[in-house]
Amino acid sequence: PKSHQGRIALVTGAASGIGKAIATRLAAEGACVVIADLDLEKAQAAAAELGGTDVAVGVAANVADEAAVQRAIDEALLAFGGLDLVVNNAGLSLSKPLLETTEKDWDLQHDVMAKGSFLVSKAAAKALIEQQLGGDIIYISSKNSVFAGPNNIAYSATKADQAHQVRLLAVELGEHGVRVNGINPDGVVRGSGIFAGGWGANRAKTYGIDEAELGQYYANRTILKREVVPENVADAVYVLTGPELSRTTGLHIPVDSGVAQA
Ligand code: NAD
Repeated sequence: PKSHQGRIALVTGAASGIGKAIATRLAAEGACVVIADLDLEKAQAAAAELGGTDVAVGVAANVADEAAVQRAIDEALLAFGGLDLVVNNAGLSLSKPLLETTEKDWDLQHDVMAKGSFLVSKAAAKALIEQQLGGDIIYISSKNSVFAGPNNIAYSATKADQAHQVRLLAVELGEHGVRVNGINPDGVVRGSGIFAGGWGANRAKTYGIDEAELGQYYANRTILKREVVPENVADAVYVLTGPELSRTTGLHIPVDSGVAQA
């Protein structure tokens, strides 16, 4: 059997980019997948790419809205009869210097990534504890949770918040057999709506390069000299939630071609 056969996964922000690659990989490994994203049509279209509704369903859920998060979890339970694995991936980046970052910017970043992943983990944990079958919660945090980069205080602060949620929940949910781990990607330009939606232009300006060169620019400053793509992050989710790392919890895996060590 495939490694994730019969497991039921919910991935937030999975209509695009890294989340979509994670959903695709989990489905390929035999999981049934719920794709939760802001826009219902986009979530359903991404789900349809994975197969019929016996394999993947799309649901609309703003992760910053507790009632909407509960509905998404309930839809997973209804569609597939359980829940085993949740990936906190939904996110956005406003990427501004300190003096341009408004209170509203700060609140939006924290609503979606810090509060949003807290709400998703809370609703998921309730279902996982009730089932008594253990499970996995994954956070797509960032290299920026540990290392400082230019012009993104609000984004990076929420990523650090997420990183601590991983440690706290690993401690709190361990007795229920629920493992909680994080992934710290960096420089995933290809396929990323965050990069396409303005962050890429912002970074390119910061580094004094053309936006089209950004992927290569990131690759060049890494140890491996390899561009990081969404599938590399999906590989890390597969390994962290698979049987081989069954005694690993509270860990963060960098997926950054080694840039954090450079
Ligand atoms: P993306 O824009 O392609 O994907 C983000 C998805 O989240 C989108 O589909 C968006 O609609 C959804 N989303 C935004 N707000 C939401 C909300 N309130 N509720 C539900 N869904 C919401 O970008 P991506 O690069 O694939 O980013 C995915 C995650 O990876 C983010 O958390 C991001 O911070 C993190 N990350 C990305 C990189 C990178 O280099 N691209 C690096 C480190 C971390």
